[in-house]
This record gives sequence, C-alpha cells and structure tokens, in this order.
Amino acid sequence: MMTKRIAVIGAGPSGLAQLRAFQSAAMQGAEIPEIVCFEKQSNWGGLWNYTWRTGVDENGDPVHGSMYRYLWSNGPKEGLEFADYSFEEHFGKQIASYPPRAVLFDYIEGRVLKAGVRDWIRFRSVIRWIDYDPGTGQFTVTVHDMAKDHVYKEQFDHVICASGHFSSPNVPEYPGFAQFNGRIVHAHDFRDAREFAGKDVLLLGSSYSAEDIGSQCWKYGAKSVTTSYRSAPMGFEWPDNWQELPALESVEGRTAHFIDGTSKEVDAIILCTGYRHYFPFLPDDLRLKTANRLAAADLYKGVVYVHNPKMFYLGMQDQWFTFNMFDAQAWWVRDVILGRIGLPSDKQEMLADIEERVAREEASDDAKYAIQYQGDYIKELIAETDYPSFDVDGACQAFFEWKKHKAENIMTFRDHSYRSVITGTMAPVHHTPWKDALDDSKEVYLQN
Ligand SMILES: Cc1cc2nc3c(=O)[nH]c(=O)nc-3n(C[C@H](O)[C@H](O)[C@H](O)COP(=O)(O)OP(=O)(O)OC[C@H]3O[C@@H](n4cnc5c(N)ncnc54)[C@H](O)[C@@H]3O)c2cc1C
Repeated sequence: MMTKRIAVIGAGPSGLAQLRAFQSAAMQGAEIPEIVCFEKQSNWGGLWNYTWRTGVDENGDPVHGSMYRYLWSNGPKEGLEFADYSFEEHFGKQIASYPPRAVLFDYIEGRVLKAGVRDWIRFRSVIRWIDYDPGTGQFTVTVHDMAKDHVYKEQFDHVICASGHFSSPNVPEYPGFAQFNGRIVHAHDFRDAREFAGKDVLLLGSSYSAEDIGSQCWKYGAKSVTTSYRSAPMGFEWPDNWQELPALESVEGRTAHFIDGTSKEVDAIILCTGYRHYFPFLPDDLRLKTANRLAAADLYKGVVYVHNPKMFYLGMQDQWFTFNMFDAQAWWVRDVILGRIGLPSDKQEMLADIEERVAREEASDDAKYAIQYQGDYIKELIAETDYPSFDVDGACQAFFEWKKHKAENIMTFRDHSYRSVITGTMAPVHHTPWKDALDDSKEVYLQN
C-alpha cells in the first residue's frame, strides 16, 4: 500500500504541534504517513517569529506577523506550557510567569529541535491553492517555492490547515480618515511603541490588542492614551494619562470626535479592530467561514471540517489556551489519520456535536465560564489520545488568578507568579517589574 501523504499548512505553534504529534508516534514505533509542512516564512514559529516588516514580506506577499517589539506574554505561561516539554526542561530552571516574545519563541523552537522535525518543513513555500477531487479522494496542493520562484502541484490524502487567524486585519473606515493629519495604523502593522513616545495616541477597540498596545505606548512614554469602545469599556483602573471614551464618530484634521459629543486632539490612531479568518488559498467547499469564537463553525470536535472530513483545521478557535490546546488538537487529528480514532460516518452526528458546542458556549458570557469551557475541551481531546495528561483545571486556575490580578492593577499583573501544572514548581518573581523592564531580550529576562 502507498504511504499516505499529509500536507500541513503553516509552521506556527499549531503546525509544529502537528509535526511533534506524528514524530512522537513514530518514536513509539508507529508507522506514520509522509508529512510535508509548507511554511511561507523563512523560519518557523508563526506569529512568534518576529518581523520588523509591515505590508508585504520579502516575497511581496502579505506579512504574516502581527507581533511587536517588547511584546510580553499577555497570559501566564503556566496556562500554555507543553505537557511533554516543560519550561524547566528547556531553560534548565523555572522562569518567571510572563516571558517576552523572544523567550517564548526559544521555548517553542526547543521542543521541535529536540524532535528533529525541521526537515519535514519546506520554508518560503506559499500555498496558493488547494483542490479536492472526490473521484480520487485526493487534494491537489499548489505551492509557490519562493526561493526557486517555482510553482508546482502535489497530491495529498489529507490537508491540515494551521495557517493562523490573527494576520488579516479588520479595517474600519471613519469619516475624515483620508484627511487625518497624523498616522493611522492597524494593530497588525504596529511594531514599536517608541514611535509614539510623547504623542497623544487613540486606540480603537476594547480587546487584547487595545489593552496591550495601549499599555506598551504608556510604558514607552506616550503623552496620553485614549481607548475608544463600541460596546463596553475595558474598565480597568488606568493610569492618569489614559481615558476610555465611547465610539469614534469622525475625525477632522487631528481632532477625533466621539459619539458622546467629546473630542480630543490626537497624533496617531491605532486600529485594534481585530482580525478575519482568511484563507485565500481555499475554494468554497474547503474554506472555513467562522467568527472568532470558542465553538468555531463547521468543525467537528473543533478540528474536523464537517463538509470534507479529510480536511482538518488547527487553532481556529478564539484562544484562552494556546500551545497546549493546539497540542491536544494535533494529537487527536494524528490519531484520526492513523486510524486510532474513528469519525462518525453520519454528517448529522458531526453537525450535532458542533451544535452542542455552540449552545454550551452561548450559555454564558462570563470569562471564567469561557476559560473552563476551553479547559474542558482540552480535557475531552487528551482523554482520547496519549498526549501526556496534565492538570488542566490547575491551568484554568492560573487563568482565573491572572484575571483577578489584571482587575487589581492592569500595569502590575505581569509581576505575579504561578505554579507550573507540569512540574509543580512555583515560578520565581521576575527581577524587574514589567513597567520598568524596557529591555525584552531573552538574555536579560533569563538573568537571575
Ligand atoms: C499580537 C498578538 C499577541 C499574542 N500574544 C499571545 C500570548 O501572549 N500568548 C499566547 O499564548 N498567545 C498569544 N497570541 C495568540 C497566537 O495566536 C498563538 O500564540 C499562536 O501563534 C497561534 O499559532 P498558529 O500556529 O495557530 O498560528 P500562527 O502563529 O499565525 O502561524 C501560522 C503559520 O502559517 C503560515 N502560513 C499562513 N498562510 C500560509 C500559506 N498560504 N502558505 C504557507 N504558510 C502559511 C504563517 O507564515 C505562520 O507561520 C497572540 C497573537 C497576537 C496576534
């Protein structure tokens, strides 16, 4: 029998989880399919692979990266730790709870270097199109090899899409934007808070991007920060030079007008208005269309594309949990492909599973409920595979404490430490409070 061929789209944390999942089965003696991972960037790590670029990348394609300099984890690392590769194993010691981007990149990379899966990845390889032929039961994947400037097609038995969903910006338009006498930038293109030192900055949005980019601007010396919300204010105890106003109505010159009649002179507007699930390489019959939510549309068990169960998606949910959830998904998808887990033959059964998840998500707006919901999802998946079992409720607990610490003080929550649910050790308190730690390098962060 011909070996099955599996295409994985993207070598970010989700795609890498998939490679590690197959590699771990191979280590235990299982016969695994041929895995080919296509990655458009020249290195792995997905969003964690920092780029200074905005607009287009070195190949002229849209830049994938949405992360910025000085980005520190916005949730405790104890909520995302890999169950098969602890922070202590990687760094040789326990480290503080909110690592900067470079530290997390190093951690993500450490596990896959150890697994030895880099050869499974074709870098600078952009997926341009995927077709499914019901006659042969195969996918045809069209790839642009940027290094050779060569476009080719290959056949696969399964496609696992792990291309992320925080790269294609949602960009609103307001009257006066085209004549605004300052800078307007989407969070996707925000790179360095120092650009806004001494400036009056307006951020549109009330979610993580507005909260964190606003905090960055504040930390690196913005004169004032204004955040504008459409539904509800974030409601933290902000520093004195930070105010929350309702929705923007229009801008005139440098004056921003809000729907409550207030106005403010601003130098820059940062659009923290979210991202779209965007798959320009997929036809209608394979393309996931979902809002950013916990129960993503059309995904049985959160991963199997219900309209073509040979196609899988990883990491498409809104994310409280990240790396360990991608692992839970990747191990589960691996076991479907290896024939260890069977899928319902009846589409209605898969649709009923999705409906149930949607109803359960919609039962409450409470953040604690949502965290537990996603924790329960991880538990459900890992119970069905050999992914190392870990104390998911303990990880939920770390998130609950994180929420509490944010409510207490939004500028000091990153100074707290939590206990690892993988090794049981308590994280040390970081040597410098977050607001004073201006150097985000790995070397400085890891100093004792
Ligand atoms: C600003 C920001 C801050 C964040 N902060 C945190 C945080 O502090 N903690 C946390 O846990 N999570 C954070 N996240 C969440 C983040 O989504 C996950 O941590 C993680 O990066 C998701 O992994 P992924 O592999 O699903 O997607 P991505 O990291 O987006 O990786 C997708 C990969 O697919 C590749 N790709 C896309 N299209 C193609 C194509 N057509 N062909 C080939 N390759 C393709 C991309 O180049 C990329 O490498 C943050 C996200 C953002 C945007």
